[in-house]
Amino acid sequence: MSQFDVTVIGSGPGGYVAAIRAAQLGFKTAIIEKYPTMGGTCLNVGCIPSKALLDSSEHYHNAVHSFANHGILVDAPKADIARMVERKNEVVDQITTGIQFLMDKNKITVYQGVGSFEDATHVKVTKEDGSSEVLESKYVIIATGSKPSSLPFINIDKERIITSTEALNLKEIPKKFLVIGGGVIGLELGSVMLRLGSEVTVIEYMDKIIPGMDGALSKELQKVLKKQGMTFELSTAVSAVERNGDTVKVTAKNKKGEEVSFEGDYVLVSVGRKPYTDGLGLEKAGVDLDERGRVKVNEHLQTNVQNIYAIGDVIQGAMLAHKASEEGVLVAEQLAGQKPHINYNLIPGVVYTWPEVAGVGKTEEQLKAEGTAIKVGNFPMRALGRSRASGDIDGFIKIIADEKTDEVLGVHMIGARAADMIAAAVTAMEFRASAEDIARMSHAHPTFAEAIKEAALDATGKIAIHM
Ligand code: FAD
Repeated sequence: MSQFDVTVIGSGPGGYVAAIRAAQLGFKTAIIEKYPTMGGTCLNVGCIPSKALLDSSEHYHNAVHSFANHGILVDAPKADIARMVERKNEVVDQITTGIQFLMDKNKITVYQGVGSFEDATHVKVTKEDGSSEVLESKYVIIATGSKPSSLPFINIDKERIITSTEALNLKEIPKKFLVIGGGVIGLELGSVMLRLGSEVTVIEYMDKIIPGMDGALSKELQKVLKKQGMTFELSTAVSAVERNGDTVKVTAKNKKGEEVSFEGDYVLVSVGRKPYTDGLGLEKAGVDLDERGRVKVNEHLQTNVQNIYAIGDVIQGAMLAHKASEEGVLVAEQLAGQKPHINYNLIPGVVYTWPEVAGVGKTEEQLKAEGTAIKVGNFPMRALGRSRASGDIDGFIKIIADEKTDEVLGVHMIGARAADMIAAAVTAMEFRASAEDIARMSHAHPTFAEAIKEAALDATGKIAIHM
């Protein structure tokens, strides 16, 4: 029987990062992945492929809508979705192969098969051909991630009634693309189709899109996407989804209580994701789940069984790749006797629409509900030279600071390259910067990041220069 110090089940951004850190710290490490490629949801059917298609569709959209304004004249461009998906697959192949390389480099033993507990220190790997092998391990890290969830009355047929996984592999551009759920995944994939020419309707149960983010971002994003042509049906509760040949029909109740229906050729069900523990044999190890089916962990990410830990989408908290990776590192370092810490308040959230949306820290709604006295600074992207030069004038940056201490409590942005700019806010907040600290730092000109400085000037004393 093979013996390991650490065995990780699942090779997503939680699992593979945990395995690398464990190996770096000198543990004899194994990782078990049931799919033939490494990298989990994020690399295979999540973060990376969605961004590859977002980028391709953005290029196409620019060719159709912006090139002429920049003085670039091309004959009517055509979108070749087959090539876009092929390119996306090439990107995924490069990255998943890269993870395999990292496993080899760090001398991590990779097992392909389904991992399931025999007891707390033994994990069976069942391979595709039905053969199996049991590993003995001092510690086990559960990193089995999540799967798309649905509504009980929806039958996902994976052809016309689809999840994000199928939306990343469509063979044609939908004519009418219906999206159930106005969260991050629905809006990103809705954006891809919109840019490629689909009519896109987003049906959302709540009264706003991207509900977890600062309300100002939600309003602005809806406004901008509406301008781009996306239709929103908010406060609308879907009650049925039917398929008739190549047509799908979504029936719902709108906010007035009236029955409404929408027809399209594809419907994306993006109503969230659920933790994945099927076939893991948790009961054999005695590991408890919480009321929402997530593996229950304490603040050390340790389950109720002392040598078993869990990280990423399968436990509580934001379902984000970088959150999973931070947790992987934390568990490995703890096993080595270190005392790492994750500041969950500073895990940024991003939406890769264009303009991009990003936020970190507390939202204005949260701070008001807590009764914290705050000051808010805003700066519109359109007032920047860089935005004018590129033509990306939508959006703003909002900085919320404590009224008394001036400490930055939240940074929320929508605009070109917000996904990258949010890192500056995370850095500042990690070091507990005040709005004035940011306002006094030199920001290169002309950049989109100058809006951070200007919003900080506005927050600290309503002294933005270009507004
Ligand atoms: P996963 O990545 O889900 O990996 C779990 C792995 O465990 C899988 O490979 C699975 O096959 C394997 N597994 C499960 N059970 C077993 C078993 N019993 N034995 C062996 N292997 C098993 N997050 C971001 O931060 N940024 C983004 O831009 C982003 N975009 C996304 C876009 C889409 C369309 C989707 C669907 C998700 C996106 N996410 C994004 C979310 C991100 O993918 C997840 O938060 C992240 O993958 C979670 O990592 P994880 O390691 O916990 O689990």
